[in-house]
Amino acid sequence: MPLSTVIVAGAGPTGLALACGLRATGVPVRVVDKAKGPAATSRALGLQPRGAEVLDRLGALADLPEGSVHIRQVLTHVNGEPMARLNVGQRTKLVTRPGLIISQAEVEARLRHRLRDLGVEVEWGRELLAADQSIGGVTVQIDDEAIDAGWLVGCDGAHSGVRKAAGIGFPGVAVIERFLLADVRVPLSLPQGAVSVWLRGDQMLGAFPMPGADVWRLMAPAPTGTAADLGGEEVLALLVDLLHDHARLPSVDVQEALWTSTFRIHRRLASTYRKGRVLLAGDAAHVHSPFGGQGMNTGLGDAENLAWKLSLVAAGQSGEGLLDSYEAERRPIAEEVLESTSAMTRMVVGGTPMARLIRDHVFVPLMNRPVVQRMIWEKSSQLKVSYRKSPLAGRSVRSWAVPGPHAGDRVPDLKCERADGSPTRLHAELGAHWALLTPADGDCATVTRRHLGTGGRVTVLKASASNGRDVMLVRPDAHLAWRGTSAASLDHWLTQALGRT
Ligand SMILES: Cc1cc2nc3c(=O)[nH]c(=O)nc-3n(C[C@H](O)[C@H](O)[C@H](O)COP(=O)(O)OP(=O)(O)OC[C@H]3O[C@@H](n4cnc5c(N)ncnc54)[C@H](O)[C@@H]3O)c2cc1C
Repeated sequence: MPLSTVIVAGAGPTGLALACGLRATGVPVRVVDKAKGPAATSRALGLQPRGAEVLDRLGALADLPEGSVHIRQVLTHVNGEPMARLNVGQRTKLVTRPGLIISQAEVEARLRHRLRDLGVEVEWGRELLAADQSIGGVTVQIDDEAIDAGWLVGCDGAHSGVRKAAGIGFPGVAVIERFLLADVRVPLSLPQGAVSVWLRGDQMLGAFPMPGADVWRLMAPAPTGTAADLGGEEVLALLVDLLHDHARLPSVDVQEALWTSTFRIHRRLASTYRKGRVLLAGDAAHVHSPFGGQGMNTGLGDAENLAWKLSLVAAGQSGEGLLDSYEAERRPIAEEVLESTSAMTRMVVGGTPMARLIRDHVFVPLMNRPVVQRMIWEKSSQLKVSYRKSPLAGRSVRSWAVPGPHAGDRVPDLKCERADGSPTRLHAELGAHWALLTPADGDCATVTRRHLGTGGRVTVLKASASNGRDVMLVRPDAHLAWRGTSAASLDHWLTQALGRT
């Protein structure tokens, strides 16, 4: 096997997205998963605008928006009374896609389909048991086969064997001991396109509309005093009781239980994302509360960030130092997600009488304010993610007074023209490629092609909206790499970023 090969352990959303990103640039990839086959049930439900954008750039979004519930509101009730109508999903200058509720299983299916088009099939029933690094590669033990590869990426979830094999710590704490979940087919006279939440004292219940006729997800913390070992029927019975009590519905006639589960909420972060030729992404690197629907989306963001860097390194077009920017950019994002989702969980669950008082009389009423709604929606969309503090951004010298994106910021989906004058959009040209937005195909284009190769890694575009005289180099993940006017300065940035000194 060529030593540029990347082994991806885990065919969840993170591993599949990473493999698509690597394959799209021609990197040899193998994806192994210890499960016998794809999961039919869903953990994640919320596909945030950033997650949808990543899937789109990877060519895997397909018909997901059409098959999703477009979420418009979160309706919060306190002691049975409607208290807040939080509008989400609205179009803002930053966010132009809706928030989608769609099964994680459907997201994975679209990614597998895309990966198949790129020539890779997931190897199911193949468990990674050990990994040993040498100077030029890594030997991976998968069942009884030892495979020599260039790189190993652990996308193998919260209990990651890759993380353990690499000796990477995963410190953290349990946030909530037990949560109950049931995906059920049940006709409910609740508003469609809205998540309904009921709060009363230390109890909470959420009902999420899912795609399909009368399909809902019910979720609640296990009431105090519930037995430790709960079977599926008991979980369902408890959730239906809570629904009766809180929503005061005349009848709850469950026609089918599609999935029931109990889970613990942990908050943990890997002490490093890389040890030599072994890297971590997704739940293998960070786990947190599902409140706010950020986990799968953060994993997709990790995958996109890592894919273009590892592809340049594996192809020998960049030094390994570029990979350090993966942790520098993505670990702070995970830290922030851990912080905000834990705070939200504490706020909603209300652990003490004082916390519940503040929740019911301060936080919940605040959710009716348009300015708060916009803030919550834009933050949860993940489109505000910026890498301004990245070592890559630090190398682009540019005045903070300049309007428009700064190095590290996400560049919006601008209207552009290709070299032949045909119209396109910036994001449609990214994914496998970099984009150089330039008024004319001059010295900056020559420099970029020299560094990134003439083999199609960079597309030269003309932006319809003016950036003044500035040329912008946009990374495959839609973040601004460099902005300026001097080809010598661009040459310097690329030399430094790709470790070619
Ligand atoms: C109830 C619930 C609701 C959630 N809701 C949301 C939401 O609305 N939005 C959101 O963004 N996130 C949500 N999440 C989080 C989301 O499900 C996870 O963040 C996401 O699944 C992480 O994807 P992953 O690919 O990193 O890992 P996983 O999906 O866990 O995939 C890991 C894969 O690795 C395989 N594997 C494990 N060990 C090995 C091994 N040794 N060798 C080979 N393969 C291995 C496993 O079989 C699995 O297929 C929710 C989570 C829960 C529990």
